[in-house]
Amino acid sequence: MLHATLSPAPRKARKPASRRLTFIPITRGVGRLIIAAGKVLAGYWLHEIGSDIGGRGFVLEKFAGETYHVHVTGPAAAMCDCRGHEAHGHCKHADAVLTLIRLGHLPPQRPMSPAGFAALQAA
Ligand SMILES: [Zn+2]
Repeated sequence: MLHATLSPAPRKARKPASRRLTFIPITRGVGRLIIAAGKVLAGYWLHEIGSDIGGRGFVLEKFAGETYHVHVTGPAAAMCDCRGHEAHGHCKHADAVLTLIRLGHLPPQRPMSPAGFAALQAA
């Protein structure tokens, strides 16, 4: 007699949606960033703000409102203040900034002043 235990079909591992980045540089340390994850698009102003504690600081300001701060501390190390990063230790904002740096789209430079950035946003 054959006894077999039917195990449930293996759950399909959830495949993370592939992400595409579109970066439109505008001026030093400032650009528009679109992160496409699957069918979801999110657009941001990306603005380098410098860092008083070493590394490089960036603000990602969503066109629709939320603002996230990304602190880059190494070639593959960045922190973000969004809930996703807090929960999982990584997020699309930090990943996007690291990718843009790695591809040479965000060369180190003196950040633009907040007033200069505000004027640019208003233009
Ligand atoms: Zn984030």
